[in-house]
Amino acid sequence: MARPFLFGTNFKMNQTPAASAAFYQQLAASVQIRPGTGLFVIPPFTSLGAVTEVAGQPPHRIWVGAQNVHWAPEGAYTGEISVRMLLALGLDLVLLGHAERRQYFHETDVELNRKAQSALEGGLRVLLAVGETAEERSFDVGREIVLRQLKIGLHEVRAEHTELLQIAYEPVWSIGAGGTPAHPEDVSPMAEAIRSGLEALFGERGNQVPILYGGSVDPVNAGTFTALPDIDGLFVGRAAWSVEGFIATYEAGIRGWHGDG
Ligand code: PEP
Repeated sequence: MARPFLFGTNFKMNQTPAASAAFYQQLAASVQIRPGTGLFVIPPFTSLGAVTEVAGQPPHRIWVGAQNVHWAPEGAYTGEISVRMLLALGLDLVLLGHAERRQYFHETDVELNRKAQSALEGGLRVLLAVGETAEERSFDVGREIVLRQLKIGLHEVRAEHTELLQIAYEPVWSIGAGGTPAHPEDVSPMAEAIRSGLEALFGERGNQVPILYGGSVDPVNAGTFTALPDIDGLFVGRAAWSVEGFIATYEAGIRGWHGDG
């Protein structure tokens, strides 16, 4: 079975509810979703209600995701949001393990595993982000770090839940305004390692999990990453924060996709 091509963006701590809803509406009205591909947007928590309202009944044509979730169904966890709450809003997806959450909020792989288990058990799609820092890369342990994040993050995840799973490989040194763009030669061996890691965890089902690349992607370089055999889409920040940029980067990614374009 062919893996789908997935493309989406995370707005991080940006946008008011009105701005997120306007973005979603404009995107939905102007993007042509190609067969075999899927799109998603991940606004901040405070925008989720406004976005799901304009998105209509789930499952949404353009998936709506949250940037984090707690593992407990409810309880004394001030400031946190549960899977149940996200599902009540009609969300399609949750992003787990973004580099900024790991770095600034000290999220551990064990915690991410609890979050992933809870989301998947609830039927919510999970986009698990993995990636090595510049320092880890300088010691040539990027592969080990990423495999560790994958193995712990997905520990004891049931094989049938892989249908709800996607991985974002985001080298920490390449993301955000201070990032150094990666080259496809940097990404290729890591994507291959992630694919092998998924197969070791889930057998043939691991081969069906989409791996997205993220980090300083733009319409110029998008196709160089999607041409790689183990990359099935893109997870984009800054370049996709305008509707025009989102569509241009998506189109460029599809043109390069495994050399299909
Ligand atoms: C990110 O922060 O996850 C990201 C991919 O950002 P950018 O595309 O802006 O590098």
